[in-house]
Amino acid sequence: HNHVDHATVAKVEAAIATGDTHAHIPDYQTYDAYMADGGYQVLQQLRETGNWEAVQDQVLASGLRGLGGAGFPSGKKWGFVRANDGPRYLAVNGDEGEPGTFKDRYYLERTPHLFLEGMLIAAWAVEAETCFIYMRDEYPAVLAILRAEIAALEAAGIVAEGYIDLRRGAGAYICGEESAMIESIEGKRGIPRHRPPFVAQVGVFNRPTLVHNVETLLWVARVCREGPDVLGGTEKNGRKGLRSYSVSGRVAKPGVYLLPAGSTITDIIDAAGGMAEGHVFKAYQPGGPSSGLLPASINDVPLDFDTLQPLGTFIGSAAVVVLSDKDKARDAALNMLRFFEDESCGQCTPCRVGCEKAVKLMQADAWDQPLLDELCTAMADASICGLGQAAPNPIKLVMAHFKDEI
Ligand code: SF4
Repeated sequence: HNHVDHATVAKVEAAIATGDTHAHIPDYQTYDAYMADGGYQVLQQLRETGNWEAVQDQVLASGLRGLGGAGFPSGKKWGFVRANDGPRYLAVNGDEGEPGTFKDRYYLERTPHLFLEGMLIAAWAVEAETCFIYMRDEYPAVLAILRAEIAALEAAGIVAEGYIDLRRGAGAYICGEESAMIESIEGKRGIPRHRPPFVAQVGVFNRPTLVHNVETLLWVARVCREGPDVLGGTEKNGRKGLRSYSVSGRVAKPGVYLLPAGSTITDIIDAAGGMAEGHVFKAYQPGGPSSGLLPASINDVPLDFDTLQPLGTFIGSAAVVVLSDKDKARDAALNMLRFFEDESCGQCTPCRVGCEKAVKLMQADAWDQPLLDELCTAMADASICGLGQAAPNPIKLVMAHFKDEI
């Protein structure tokens, strides 16, 4: 379970306040360093003479899609939000709770201002009155860095005091679901809302709200600073663009790898230094536990949006976990379902009861496959949000590819 270490948060903040770059604080690009690198010039130019539609065109041309998991074209969202009368808000989803995903943390601990400038450009584009950053509380260094650097932006007059409202998530996975996040920002229990209406129409405090993931905004800044080709200029296996894969599990060098969107699992394992010593590649989670598991034999598919759909899975936030001959796919799937059982918000029966029931059925030596099949269908068809809808994926994929284990 998630655990907030308040003592570490206090230590990190005290260290930053005194300018102590102790090991607790990553060596990140500060406000001064970012300014020396041409920081916030694009934002200032846009604020003075910019045309939001021209920026939207650039973002669309880059092929940027939401990098929190859903993969919706980022530029299009701006138009949807602007179609509704103000006041409008921007909410950043920094509740990176998908097991195996750590890319947002990686970037925020290195280049926080690239993210902040991207956020302010998007806020300018939709004329947002306030930017809420909903940040995972389990990232003490990130929170401390953001507090210090937002204060630097206020002191420099780039944003008015209080324009950026940094909120701390309290460790519920479901608060990474955008409508549950909005409930939580409003001070309520984080449970997903029914849609429609969509958050672009009725979001934070019932106002039109633009929701973006942290990494998405970092790319907005890079596209505006360097042009659309910085993202869209790469092509591999028929796919355009780049993806930040969070790679963990039985690889030699776990970490975040920025690779062409057309990369296969073979390319990704290669980038991560190959398999860990003594391990033979057996299976992988392509994009968070909701994506389930694929066998090593499916190794020639680009791990990108849309490409995995025919295989009954998806790339999500690109959290790749590699399993070896020392692991059992059924154990990994059970672990995933236990996680969903814990993290289900309990609002709807197919998910609340379905996850619990699935865990019980998956503990049997021989799985009752017809019953699990039926349960999977009910959960996928009748759950309110993505958690319950996708929770059956690990079960279905184990039944499809790892029959000998069940
Ligand atoms: Fe809550 Fe699960 Fe229903 Fe989503 S599917 S609303 S997490 S009970």
